Amino acid sequence: MAFDYDLFVIGAGSGGTRAARIAAGHGAKVAVAEEFRIGGTCVIRGCVPKKVLVYASRFADAFADAAAFGWTLPVPPVFDWSVLRAAKEKEITRLSGIYAANLEKSGVEIFRQRAGVSGPQAVTLADGRVVSARHILIATGGAPSLHPHAEGVEHTITSNEIFDLTTFPKRLLVVGGGYIAVEFASLMQRLGSSVTMVMRGDNILRGFDDDMRVGLRDQLQAAGVAFLFGALPARIALDGEARRVTLSDGQTLECDQVLIATGRHPATLGLGLEAAGVHLSPHGAVRVDGGSTSNVPSIHAVGDVTDRIALTPVAIREGHWLADRLFGGAMREVDYDAVASAVFTTPEIGTVGLTEARARETYDVVDIYKTSFRPLKATITGGPERMVMKLVVDGETDRLLGAHILGAEAGEIIQALGVAVKMGAKKADLDATMPVHPTAAEELVTMRERTARWVR
Ligand code: FAD
Repeated sequence: MAFDYDLFVIGAGSGGTRAARIAAGHGAKVAVAEEFRIGGTCVIRGCVPKKVLVYASRFADAFADAAAFGWTLPVPPVFDWSVLRAAKEKEITRLSGIYAANLEKSGVEIFRQRAGVSGPQAVTLADGRVVSARHILIATGGAPSLHPHAEGVEHTITSNEIFDLTTFPKRLLVVGGGYIAVEFASLMQRLGSSVTMVMRGDNILRGFDDDMRVGLRDQLQAAGVAFLFGALPARIALDGEARRVTLSDGQTLECDQVLIATGRHPATLGLGLEAAGVHLSPHGAVRVDGGSTSNVPSIHAVGDVTDRIALTPVAIREGHWLADRLFGGAMREVDYDAVASAVFTTPEIGTVGLTEARARETYDVVDIYKTSFRPLKATITGGPERMVMKLVVDGETDRLLGAHILGAEAGEIIQALGVAVKMGAKKADLDATMPVHPTAAEELVTMRERTARWVR
């Protein structure tokens, strides 16, 4: 049977664009549909614009530290949100253009509209056209989940809206304690907002190593972020331009914006997948096998819509390897073990492998090497920051199971250390490595004293 396309990709984000380009490179006839802007969450309203805001926010620290190093700033620094917003917009527009150009250069046809599935090998476009495809790739990503129990939730924003606010909120309530919540809390506080975080749990960053969670919370607190644990908004009411928020524990507070960052869900609503026979998880994720194929052999899914590890590099790899498998004859499954990642707060967290708690559940003997120190810069400025580094080691084999860093450039450091963890490095390999001096990262190869040993 002849199909209109060998591969039809729904969603031109991290995973979809990579799969489309690689498949086209293998000679497949490929089309992609995008309902918003080419590039997806990461480029348009995720990683990239967030990092631009993080850079902007860190000037606050640089200005505050400058005097200790002999600098006098001629005027008190003034921040203009509209200039930053425009700079962000310029960069994401440039990147989106590059993504679109690269797709077109690869011979991929772009439909700038919504698409859905109307059969195992049929795609329906928003304009009513129906096209056939040998393979369909669902790469629709995820969307922020609103807090459905809060009355007045329509008066709140999510990470989708915060980048384009016309007025910078002087007082911001951040709901949630995950990595997106803490990143915005950190950067908005530095840009001049008075930030309060409220969350159901008793600390930020569930699932991260406990020393990182406590260390980051303390440093965000020192930077002025206020925390309310064990509560969520029950009611949000407009009070002129402001929002009056009543929490589940009865407390009330007033702010200019409420950012809901309580999680994301896979974007499968209204795609027609159930009707096509595709199995979804209770959370709405497309269930796929190790090769990213659903129970319907012609329908595949990669990235956040599969609810595996919701990070851009993971979506890209899944898309790439799926295209290689379908059109390049390469059979490979993505390895989800020891995926390094960063939290772009100030200070940052860099993490790879097992946390101490997780290692203790899994291994009989776990050795911990931990250090906490004031970085050189802070000893000059008198600032409160402390760097925390922790290595989690299998006490029986000496193999490095995990590494966790809280401090400046932790994201950069963990990328390199992630290679060692992935290669199965032993603690002895770190000890044998000559330090780079003077750096913070040298502590990773000079931790001689074990700080704890846990035996099961
Ligand atoms: P997406 O990139 O979300 O792309 C999906 C695309 O599909 C979107 O463009 C959407 O408009 C389109 N679409 C959806 N439905 C349809 C339809 N029916 N028809 C047509 N098009 C459709 N990850 C990191 O690795 N590092 C970070 O620092 C980081 N920071 C983040 C910060 C924020 C605020 C957020 C929200 C996410 C962040 N992420 C980060 C996660 C990262 O953005 C995602 O993991 C990644 O974008 C997933 O790629 P994807 O291809 O699955 O989906």
